[in-house]
Amino acid sequence: MSIDGDTTDLAEATHAAIDEQAGLTRRNSLSPSRASDFMTCPLLYRFRVIDRLPQAPSIDAVRGTVVHKVLEELFDLPATERTHDRANLLLGPAWEQLLAEEPGLAEIFGDPGVDSDRPEGPDLATWLEQCRGLLGRYFALEDPQRLEPAEREVHVVTQLESGLTLHGYIDRVDVAPTGEVRIVDYKTGRSPGEHFEAKALFQMKFYALVVWRTRGVIPRVLQLVYLGNGEMLRYEPDERDLLATERKVAALWAAIRRADDSGDWRPNKSVLCGWCDHKVICPAWGGTPPPLPVLPVPEAPKSPAM
Ligand code: SF4
Repeated sequence: MSIDGDTTDLAEATHAAIDEQAGLTRRNSLSPSRASDFMTCPLLYRFRVIDRLPQAPSIDAVRGTVVHKVLEELFDLPATERTHDRANLLLGPAWEQLLAEEPGLAEIFGDPGVDSDRPEGPDLATWLEQCRGLLGRYFALEDPQRLEPAEREVHVVTQLESGLTLHGYIDRVDVAPTGEVRIVDYKTGRSPGEHFEAKALFQMKFYALVVWRTRGVIPRVLQLVYLGNGEMLRYEPDERDLLATERKVAALWAAIRRADDSGDWRPNKSVLCGWCDHKVICPAWGGTPPPLPVLPVPEAPKSPAM
C-alpha cells in the first residue's frame, strides 16, 4: 500500500505531461492529490512536488492503475459486450501494456521458493486473480450495460479569481437526460473508516467545485466506488459545501505558498508514515532531507536598444 496510492507513478507521469502542456506548474495550480498530500504532511508535499522524489511502485498502486484502465476501456465496448467475462479478458492486455511502458514493474511481484531476492507478496498469477476479484466487485455494484458515461478520465481545469488554477482527473462523469451530473471515482482499496471519510470526500468536492465553476452546474451526486470491499460512498453536495471547499482550498494554497517562500516544510508524523516512501530521509524519523532544489532564476527582460 502507498500513502494514498490508488494509481502508480506512471499514471502520475502521464498526467504530469498533460499538465505541463496545459502550462500548469506547482506555482500556479493545485490538484486534489497534492492538496491532500499537504494536508497529510507538508514535508510529504515538498518531497513529491518540490524535490520530485521518485516513489517505489507499490503492488497496490499498480493494481489500481490496471483496474482503472480496464474500467475505462470497458466503456469503449458496445453496451451489450460490457460483461464481467469481457472485463477479465481486458485485464491481461492492460497489464502487458503497463509492463511494456515500465518494465521494472515486473520486479514488484514475489516469487517464493524460486528467487529469494524477490519481495514478499503475491506472485503475478495471484495478483491477476486479485484484480479479477476487484472487477467482480465492480460488477456487483454497477451494471455497465445500463450506463453511458458522458466522459471518462477527463481532465477538468478552472481558474479561481485569485489566479490559482484548480485541476484534476475524474474517472467518470455521468449526465442524466435531465442534465443532472454524477461524478464517479473508482478506488481499488477499501472504503474509509468514519475518520477518513471527510478526506475522501474532499477530493470529490474539489472535482465538484471545478465542474461547477467551468460548467455552471453543481453535480447532483459524488460517488466513490470502493472495489476493495464492494461499497459505495455517495454524497449530494450543495452550493454551501462547494463554497466552503473553495475557501478551504484558498487557505491551503496560502499555507503552501508560505511554506514555499520560507522553505519551512514541516513533517506531520502520523500513522500514515508507515506507508511513506520517504521515511528514511524524514527528520521526524531521524533522517535528513536533501537540500531544497534551487530554482533557476528567471532571465531579466532585456532593455530596449537606445
Ligand atoms: S514519514 Fe511521515 S512525517 Fe515524514 S514525510 Fe513521510 S508522511 Fe511526512
